[in-house]
Amino acid sequence: MAEPDPTSDPTGTPTGDHAGAAEPATCDSCGWADADLQSVHRVYLSFDRLGAVTDEQHVADVERWCLSCRTSYPWQPT
Ligand SMILES: [Zn+2]
Repeated sequence: MAEPDPTSDPTGTPTGDHAGAAEPATCDSCGWADADLQSVHRVYLSFDRLGAVTDEQHVADVERWCLSCRTSYPWQPT
């Protein structure tokens, strides 16, 4: 019939109801889409065989984690 022409599409609706949808809001750790994402620095912990922390490595890259990951893994605020 007719070729797609967005300028004359009568059913075209403005996509104004996606506030902040410019980037996918998924957790950088587990990939889960969650509204409660927070920017964090991942922290790698090293333990001795007794379970005591012997070393912490703070990753410089900023990741966005969901609440579940923030409660499960060590991290630092950005
Ligand atoms: Zn997560």
